[in-house]
Amino acid sequence: MSTEFTEEQKNYLQGLVSGVETARAARGLASLSGAPVNGARMPQSAGSSGAAGTEPSPGAPELIHYQAQNRFIAEGKKLCPEEQAKRNRNPLDMWDYLQQHARDERNPKGTDVLLFKFHGMFYVAPAQDSFMCRLRMPGGILNSFQMRGIAEIAERYAGGYAHVTTRANLQLREIKAENLTNVLTSVQEIGLTSRGSGADNIRNITGCPTAGIDPQELIDTRPLAKQMHYYILNHREMYGLPRKFNIAFDGAGVISALEDTNDIGFSAVRVAEGKDIPAGVYFRLQLGGITGHQDFARDTGVMLTSEECVPVAAALVRVFIDNGDRTDRKKARLKYVLDRFGIEKYLEETEKHLPFKLRRFPLADCEPRPAVIKHAHIGFHAQRQPGLFYAGVVLPVGKMTLEQMRGIEDIAERYGSGTIRLTVWQNLLISDIPEERIQSVKDEIKALGLDWNAASVRAGLIACTGNGGCKFSASDTKGQAMQIADYLETRVQLDQPINIHLTGCPNSCAQHYVGDIGLLGAKVEVGEEMVEGYHLYLGGGYGASQKIGREIYRDVPFAQVPPLLEKMLTAYQGYRLNPVESFQDFTARHSIEQLKALFEQTTIAA
Ligand code: SF4
Repeated sequence: MSTEFTEEQKNYLQGLVSGVETARAARGLASLSGAPVNGARMPQSAGSSGAAGTEPSPGAPELIHYQAQNRFIAEGKKLCPEEQAKRNRNPLDMWDYLQQHARDERNPKGTDVLLFKFHGMFYVAPAQDSFMCRLRMPGGILNSFQMRGIAEIAERYAGGYAHVTTRANLQLREIKAENLTNVLTSVQEIGLTSRGSGADNIRNITGCPTAGIDPQELIDTRPLAKQMHYYILNHREMYGLPRKFNIAFDGAGVISALEDTNDIGFSAVRVAEGKDIPAGVYFRLQLGGITGHQDFARDTGVMLTSEECVPVAAALVRVFIDNGDRTDRKKARLKYVLDRFGIEKYLEETEKHLPFKLRRFPLADCEPRPAVIKHAHIGFHAQRQPGLFYAGVVLPVGKMTLEQMRGIEDIAERYGSGTIRLTVWQNLLISDIPEERIQSVKDEIKALGLDWNAASVRAGLIACTGNGGCKFSASDTKGQAMQIADYLETRVQLDQPINIHLTGCPNSCAQHYVGDIGLLGAKVEVGEEMVEGYHLYLGGGYGASQKIGREIYRDVPFAQVPPLLEKMLTAYQGYRLNPVESFQDFTARHSIEQLKALFEQTTIAA
């Protein structure tokens, strides 16, 4: 019989002792650990659990998290294991522990898996017996030197490839424990970081990928994404939230930042002369986006100047720290605090953390956002700078080989300004290409085995990691997305941009609810076997076309998915009102039953 406590037993004991500690502290008694009630942190050995938790010193930034947890404990509630683990040790202070794991070539166990994610290191067993490292780069922008460096890290310490994520970010996979800290230090040596890219932290700050070069944008979001990024990096209380948290800045350019799918979305608007506030460009504040729970961020009625955005975001996060659920992970996202409080109360609480009142202004008095151009993230497009173009390169579901990474940075260096812009559509832009060099860039992209054709199925294909690298996935989303592309591209000629999103589980990293066609992974019973398959959703959208896709089919084995998609696209092209009717509009004017009937009566070649 094992003499070690199970994870559940440890958490029970930790919760018990923690409650006793809180009660003792309230009565002014010394801590059971011997630490002074208001004093220094308990000493921690590597791997020790620190049963009562580690109370931060008075005035320490992270104290507000500890106090928030105390309120649940004082109400007789039990912290969830993840909260207890964060209470036991601040994950930001475990460098030696990470190094020890690297020296011992040891993988983390139990809640350490969560704590390692504070450093951007995801132990992804059983999908892969190795780590994935997720970086962060504000607005998804990096330079050619950094791309070259990432290729080197991928070659030396990881699997020799990288993936662009749906937060305009990069991930490296197949990192062995021995290289844990090698990767972390190498990433910092090229001016990047992975700190806080996973676990209960504010994820990569996104913005418009065309910021600063966009012909129609109202404001360049790059400075804001950077300010927010560095604010987080330099404020320890911005880590260890009740749950993960997303922030995006949309500058009203041709490519959306998908800000309405974030917990906090800032969306640029223009106000004309003659209103109650000076004319100019402001940001609308939206709150509570979480499309995996079928909810978009809602407009709060608040208007901000660009200088106010970062302090307001920090204040909003502090309210979340104080009030987010620490006992139930399923109810811990911002949306649930908003559901409990309502927008007005949440804003009132936010104002308590600000030296100014939030400005209210009707959305109807703002000018409409200039329209996004669907699939402007693919192909060659004129910049606001005369004579310069950006190239949107299709990456197969976000994947780049070493040769492609090096080729991309070389093209950016030789033909552009060395700037590479990742997008939430899992592809990238190379900016600042002189018009006369476009053909050369096209040739070089082709030579890398990549493409810039906006009419292709691949241009709108997005897939989460899938079961090749994520234990939650019911299906091989990335592999099957490529099979779908291979199948459809020989059979359907698209003349309108269509987005197809494949996501492996309800966490919805690939946001299947906002795709024209969304696929959610499922295990499907076929005879006596369970095979990989999908539930299918139609007609989702974002921004001005904001809509949660409707479920049309459940439990479709993957083998049947490609021909079913061919029928859908063929029926759309055959029955749409006119050649410019979008797929979303086409599906919206039919009931689910009508759509099914149309698809079933559509014939396709064997
Ligand atoms: Fe993993 Fe689910 Fe996210 Fe896909 S959606 S990467 S399966 S957590």
